[in-house]
Amino acid sequence: MARRTARKLPLILISNDDGVSAPGIRALAKALERLGEVWVVAPEIEQSGMSHALTLSRPLRLREHAPRVWALDGTPADCTYVALHHATLLPRPPSVVVSGINMGLNLGTDVFYSGTVAAAREGALRGVPAMAFSMPARGNAGACAVRARAMVARLLAWREANPTAAAPLVNVNFPDGRAKGVRACSLGVREYENLVEIRNDPRGRQYLWIGGPSVVGSPAEGTDTAAYEAGYVSVTTLRLDLGRDPGDALALALAKRA
Ligand code: MN
Repeated sequence: MARRTARKLPLILISNDDGVSAPGIRALAKALERLGEVWVVAPEIEQSGMSHALTLSRPLRLREHAPRVWALDGTPADCTYVALHHATLLPRPPSVVVSGINMGLNLGTDVFYSGTVAAAREGALRGVPAMAFSMPARGNAGACAVRARAMVARLLAWREANPTAAAPLVNVNFPDGRAKGVRACSLGVREYENLVEIRNDPRGRQYLWIGGPSVVGSPAEGTDTAAYEAGYVSVTTLRLDLGRDPGDALALALAKRA
C-alpha cells in the first residue's frame, strides 16, 4: 500500500549578472548541490546594471560551458526566461530560482537597476519562488554561499508547506566581514554620487562615463541599508504588485476629466 516515494530532488536554477564563470555563481552552485539538482544558466559576459532587460531584437546563442552549466549571450532576465521556457534545456521546471552570489551589493533602490535581482524576479513573475544574493565586492563567496544554502533550504520548505501561495521574491545582502546576525528588513534607499564624466578618445571625439560611487547616508531604521551598515545580513521580501492601490489620490486626480 505504501506509495513508492520516487521523489525527485528539487531542481535549483542559478543565474546572476556577473558572467557564467564568476566566483559567486560557482560558490553558490557548489553549496546548493546538497539541496537538489543544480543547473546554471548565466550570461556569457558581465551584465551588471541591466535590470530586467530582455533581448528581443537579435538572436541569442546558448553554449554548454560545463555539465549543467550554460552560458547565454544575453541579459540576466533572458537567462531565467530561456531556462524556464526552453523545451529541452532543463529536465523539469525549477523549484526555485537563485541569483548570485553577486560581487557587489544590491541594497535599497539598487533593486530597480540590478541584473541580479531581475534574474530572480523573472522566476517569481513566472510563479517560481526566487531569491537574490549579493555581497560586498571583496566578500568571501564561499562563506556567504553556506549561509545562502540555509536560506534556500528554508524557502524550499516554505514552498512545500505553501504550494499554492504566490511565488515570493526575496533579496538578501551580506555585510562586510563576519555577520553579527540576520535581520528581516524593509527596502531602504541607496544614494550614489550622480556623475557624467566627459572624456576625449584618441581621435578627439567625446565619450561619457556615467555613475558615481555610493555615498553613506543615514538609513532609516528597519531598512536593509541600515542592517548592512550595522553588520547584519539583510533579508527583504520584494513586492511585485507595484501598482496595487486603486484609490491613489494622484491617479484619481489625473484620471478626472479636465
Ligand atoms: Mn553583478
